[in-house]
Amino acid sequence: MKYAVFIAALLAVSCSSEPKNPSRTPPPPSTSPVQQIPIGQLPSVDTDAVLQHTRLLSSDEYEGRAPGTKGEDLSVKYLEDQFRNAGLKPGNTDGTYVQKVPLVGITPTPAALTFHKGSETHTLKWKDDVVAWTKHVADTATLDNSDVVFVGYGVVAPEFNWDDYKGIDVKGKTLLMLVNDPAVPDPAHPGELDPQTFGGKAMTYYGRWTYKYEIGQQKGAAAVLIVHETIPAGYGFNVVQGKTGEQFDLVTPDKNMTRPAIEGWITLDKTKELLKAAGQDFDALKQQAATRDFKPVALDMTASMTIRNTLRTINSRNVLGKLQGADPKLKDEYVVYTAHWDHFGKSAEGIFHGAEDDALGCAALIEMARAFGKVTPAPRRSILFLAVTAEEQGLLGSQYYSVTPIYPLAKTVADINMDSWNVHGRTKDLTLIGYGASDLDDYAAAAAAEQGRTVHADAEPEKGFYYRSDHFNFAKQGVPALNPDSGTVFIGQPPDYFKKVRDEWNANRYHTPKDVVLPDWNLDGTREDLKVLFTVGYRVAQADKYPEWKPGNEFKAKRDSMLGAKPR
Ligand SMILES: [Zn+2]
Repeated sequence: MKYAVFIAALLAVSCSSEPKNPSRTPPPPSTSPVQQIPIGQLPSVDTDAVLQHTRLLSSDEYEGRAPGTKGEDLSVKYLEDQFRNAGLKPGNTDGTYVQKVPLVGITPTPAALTFHKGSETHTLKWKDDVVAWTKHVADTATLDNSDVVFVGYGVVAPEFNWDDYKGIDVKGKTLLMLVNDPAVPDPAHPGELDPQTFGGKAMTYYGRWTYKYEIGQQKGAAAVLIVHETIPAGYGFNVVQGKTGEQFDLVTPDKNMTRPAIEGWITLDKTKELLKAAGQDFDALKQQAATRDFKPVALDMTASMTIRNTLRTINSRNVLGKLQGADPKLKDEYVVYTAHWDHFGKSAEGIFHGAEDDALGCAALIEMARAFGKVTPAPRRSILFLAVTAEEQGLLGSQYYSVTPIYPLAKTVADINMDSWNVHGRTKDLTLIGYGASDLDDYAAAAAAEQGRTVHADAEPEKGFYYRSDHFNFAKQGVPALNPDSGTVFIGQPPDYFKKVRDEWNANRYHTPKDVVLPDWNLDGTREDLKVLFTVGYRVAQADKYPEWKPGNEFKAKRDSMLGAKPR
């Protein structure tokens, strides 16, 4: 049952698979990459072999590939054997094909969250009013009469000259904050969001709930409580309520003790009540929070909570193989391809086979490696094929690699991610989630154009899909990262075909035991998409210049400072 609980929770964090419409197309990229070998002369990825690997990895025997199970052992062994067979060298410098990833599963015992204001007490009920947990690897985590401060959106964004913590030290305090980006109105079109600030309608990373807890950690807060609002969050409180069971995290050397003791969400209704008790008005505060002049508001109120945990540790693994670059000067620089091997395991509902999500991506990783073995001339830079663990538990395997990389990130030129594929035939287009983020989009657009196809952004940038799969951990550390998704205009199909298949997937199969290889799968579109991704990786491996983030991107500063000493 444990894994069944994850399902709802993780709808919110992983794999981009909600309905989309191709309506928003940003201006075409300004530069086009150096043309090298035409796409038609590059090797194709063998999709018959991709299908075979997918069948095997999603078979009953693999038991849904949950970390720490027999499914992990089988998946790791299969990937390792296939990488070796494809001619890859061990991807770890210790001579193995694995990187160990220490995980901890933390299950909290229900607890109430109480607020004291003078002689008044307000109690928030577990799950009904508050969903909270701790990432501390400890038996208990306690919040003891901690001062509560409303910090607006809780954002510090130097590129937008934005700081929600002006003039206040929030160390040891309980931060109440809003979800999503500050909703700054467009001065030219009141009623719309300012495209110059926090990406307008598109969500930046500052809007993601995970950012809110991270900034709380940086500020030394004792607790971070996000106010749940359905539209800005992108999902109902019921999805948040799925997070009351076991949650996995990485085990850091400090056992996550620098994170806030309590992280969680509270309902909008309860927030309004609390603010009223503090003599404040939610709507008025929210309005102020959307301005640069906003200052944090101390509520003259304290919060208390004690969470008890049950802990278990798992030693999981990332699997990695490397194709050594042919150029003596560039072989220590890396293009990375990622896919996640894990899925949800099994429960009373059955086995979560995870065929599309993401046996297919791992299968593509294997055959992508084989295609790279065939290309002439061989790539100048090295190519790293990385199958990560625990994506479904919050992108943990890729997070571990990105903070404990085997090869320096300053020499990691790009990540190209493969999480779920189009299995419904050829399309005239390709979706690039977060289109316009980096030069990698230009490479992809150029390669697709050579196939007579177009690229475009995802239809719902406000949902922040760019932050929901493994490439994001590379982006967060500054490495340009590409996250493609299925095209939407199917050749020989009615115009609503994409919507039909995507809705069917979301309603019946996404993160359920029914994500299996179906008899009607058609990988002709996958073959074309994989060729685009091959071409992007190959050309980046050959290029004189590193791909870069576009100006204004939230990850650019990190990359620039990483490469600062040796600009290229
Ligand atoms: Zn998934």
